[in-house]
Amino acid sequence: MSDEDKFRDSVNSNDYLKLISNIFQKFLAVNSVNYQNELTKPLEDIGLFFDLDRIYIYYFSKDPTFMQIECQWNKIDISPKREVQEEEVVYALPWLIRELKNKGIVVINNAKEVPLDAIFEAEAFEMEGIQASLLIPLKNEDEMIGFIGFENLSKPRTWKTDEIKILRDISRIFSYIRARISNEKAYKKALDGQAILLDNSQSQLWALSNVTSYATVNEAHAKFFGKQKSDLEYQDLYDIFDIDTANKFSENNWGLFQKNGPTEKELEIKNWKGENRLLQIKSKPGRDEYGNIKYLICTADDITEQRKAETELHTAKELAESANIAKSQFLANMSHEIRTPMNGIFGFLELIQSTTLSLEQKDFIREAKSASEVLLNLINDILDFSKIEAKKLTLEKVEFNLRTIIEDAVSLLAPKAAEKGLELNTMINAGVPEEVIGDPSRIKQILINLISNAVKFTQSGEISVTVDYLEEENEIAVLSFEVRDTGIGIAKEDIHKIFESFNQADTSTTRKYGGTGLGLAISNQLVKMMGGEICVESSLSKGSIFKFDVSLKIIKRAYKQKFEFDKLDNTNILIALDNKNNSKIISSYLQGTGLKVFEVQDATSAITTILSNSNTENKISIAIIDYQMPDMSGYELATALKIIPIAKEIKLILLTSIAQRGDTKAIKEYGFSSYLSKPLRRDDLVSCIAVALGLKKEDEEEVHQGLEIHKVKEDKNLLKPRILLVEDNEMNRKILISILKSHKMTCDVAINGSEALKAVSEKDYDVVFMDCQMPVMDGYESTAKIRLFEGNKKHTTIIAMTANAMEGDSQKCIESGMDYYISKPIDFNIMFKLIEENTKDREPEPNYNKIIDNNIDNFVKITGLEKEDAKEILEEYVKCLPDLLAGINVAIKNSDFKKLAGLSHELKGSSGTFRITSIHELAIKLEEKAIKQEIDECARFFIQIKDLFH
Ligand code: ADP
Repeated sequence: MSDEDKFRDSVNSNDYLKLISNIFQKFLAVNSVNYQNELTKPLEDIGLFFDLDRIYIYYFSKDPTFMQIECQWNKIDISPKREVQEEEVVYALPWLIRELKNKGIVVINNAKEVPLDAIFEAEAFEMEGIQASLLIPLKNEDEMIGFIGFENLSKPRTWKTDEIKILRDISRIFSYIRARISNEKAYKKALDGQAILLDNSQSQLWALSNVTSYATVNEAHAKFFGKQKSDLEYQDLYDIFDIDTANKFSENNWGLFQKNGPTEKELEIKNWKGENRLLQIKSKPGRDEYGNIKYLICTADDITEQRKAETELHTAKELAESANIAKSQFLANMSHEIRTPMNGIFGFLELIQSTTLSLEQKDFIREAKSASEVLLNLINDILDFSKIEAKKLTLEKVEFNLRTIIEDAVSLLAPKAAEKGLELNTMINAGVPEEVIGDPSRIKQILINLISNAVKFTQSGEISVTVDYLEEENEIAVLSFEVRDTGIGIAKEDIHKIFESFNQADTSTTRKYGGTGLGLAISNQLVKMMGGEICVESSLSKGSIFKFDVSLKIIKRAYKQKFEFDKLDNTNILIALDNKNNSKIISSYLQGTGLKVFEVQDATSAITTILSNSNTENKISIAIIDYQMPDMSGYELATALKIIPIAKEIKLILLTSIAQRGDTKAIKEYGFSSYLSKPLRRDDLVSCIAVALGLKKEDEEEVHQGLEIHKVKEDKNLLKPRILLVEDNEMNRKILISILKSHKMTCDVAINGSEALKAVSEKDYDVVFMDCQMPVMDGYESTAKIRLFEGNKKHTTIIAMTANAMEGDSQKCIESGMDYYISKPIDFNIMFKLIEENTKDREPEPNYNKIIDNNIDNFVKITGLEKEDAKEILEEYVKCLPDLLAGINVAIKNSDFKKLAGLSHELKGSSGTFRITSIHELAIKLEEKAIKQEIDECARFFIQIKDLFH
């Protein structure tokens, strides 16, 4: 029997079946913990069955360049191949590993016969005394994870085909076991990791299988209720918790399940100590493959402390806010309280000024007025500053004329500059838009602050205000403003602090110059709010340049050519001004007008220029002459020119400073057509030239500072405005009534909003001056009610007069239906301007008594009555006139000739009876025309009748 046959027999024997059965049983019992020990026995069984000396299993390490024996069996007296788990380098057996990878098996029957390239392996076999070896790779899927070696040390051996096949199959089982063990180990490791995370998590975690049942929970969740995980897992809430907790929890779970998606909820629930805790729960449904909710996975954090802290913070914030509100309310009240008496002071000072006073008294009053102004500015500054601090300051967004605002600010300070002998000029460069949207009063405030500082800190020289147009984006213009002075300047080390509140460059200057150090801090904030920056360049005793820029929305761009008089194209103008800057400004304002400008700096050059150009195309037609030049005064130059025949016709305009202005009569006598005051306004300049050249009538002129304005004003005053003053404060009433009286005006008085409402419903007023805070009914409510009463039929001009100056006050006035807002202390110029603007043109009241006065003597003569009796009779007649005339008026309006004829007949009769011939004659004509139905003629005669009463 051959060896193969013998082997086949043994394989069919019981021993072999026993071997296979044992091996399988062992393999089934193997797990990740015991597998090294448990495998030794099958290895032994295999070794003895196949008559081997040694079996070993090598596995590659994580780093595949290393390997180690994990399990081995050695026959008695055969020493172990290696220590178990001793790491070896894979490349020590390069041929062997290569063969295993490429061929899937290495069969060595006799170690002496290994191929030549297996040098290391031959050496190893020799050293270890290995005679024969069968090596089979172990695989996990297609990857080689190690190999199993079967060895004989006592003798060489020819490995039989069947033997090899069986050992290969057995090896495959080893591969499978190792893969299973590895997976089990990895799985366990992963589970352990998750358990670590879940059970040590501070957040509570749980999964619900339905509204009232847990699936699983983590340690933190179980602990919250003082329970073990196993007490909760797969349990019903009603079996675990008291009824209240279970109800609350399941109600919460119901809400979470309903959402059908990720949700957040807060739940207040009792913990194991019975304390109410606030849980912030986040839930997310876990779904099966069909999309049905299988679990609801919840995480929760205890936010009780956090919420408490938040609530405390919120309360603290509210407290702080209410303190802030209280602060601004206090400021509003304070400002109101201070402004009310200030109104009294200003008003009475104004009134005293209009009485007869000694020079000394006048001086005292001037001082008192200026001190009050300083005090008022101070109050305004502090109020503004507090508003900025309390973040209560908001900017207005209204359309306004930028040029006017700039020129107004400069004009306001012109008298002060003139008083100190300082030149103050403004240059608004071409390109600066005319109409913009922004906060005009705040821009003016910044300019006033900078210019008044410049005036304050400059003893001699010049202050120039320049406005330039930097760039434009999306209809927003960036404008730069510059206020330059030749004053004391600021030391380098002080520059950084002047924009901070209450800071002044030098405390010693405080005493000399006064001030609070708030103006620049406020300006700085205002500029920032307008999207710009403010800065200063300065050097001591040389002067300062304050610059700021703001962004404003453009409504109307700069006029390309404002001056639209064709005739100016060949007109030459001479500007005789000592100050080069002023001269430059005038010529820049005249650009585009067609005028050709000649500039000279003294009177002699003026005369020379006029004479030398007299017979040329550059003949001067108009000249602007400075009030005082180095060599001559303006008057002297004018006198000189008037006696030079070729210069006689030149139109002259005198340029004066505020201080010099006023003597209009003298100006005309010296031969000037008109005069202009510095600081110059472009539109005034252009209009003044147009008037001087006869291109525009003087009475069209609105802003020219001539006598005409006065005349217009007086005419208007004849209209006798109907004013209602609504004021609860007696002192304020007294002042206003007196001030109005000094302007020959009267007013009706209401002492609260309710009286105002009654008055407006009974009489048609031109202007109502309405105080805001009053007892019974305040000004806001009263205005709102007046507007309701008026509907669409009428609109009485209501002007708020209030001492409030906090945020939203002006807004509140406008919202309640008022038309304007003036704050106390009242600027009376503004007040009279508003009265003038709002006084409606209406027919003057008829004076019926005039008829009695004009006709009584004639009536006495004809009737022989006593004068007293005659007067009584005529008074009766006059009493009927208003109704009669009103009836005629209506009849004319309605072209009701029948009625008109009847009423004129009545008028004819009564006036004839009482011998009022003037009315009688017109009434005859009126009746005639009524019969003829000539309506225009009727109206003409009716007007003549009415004129008799004025
Ligand atoms: P105030 O003028 O009320 O003191 P401001 O905030 O307007 O407050 O100015 C702060 C300080 O900056 C002034 O006290 C002064 O020292 C300095 N300053 C401001 N403008 C000028 C200027 N044009 N020339 C010199 N110093 C100036």
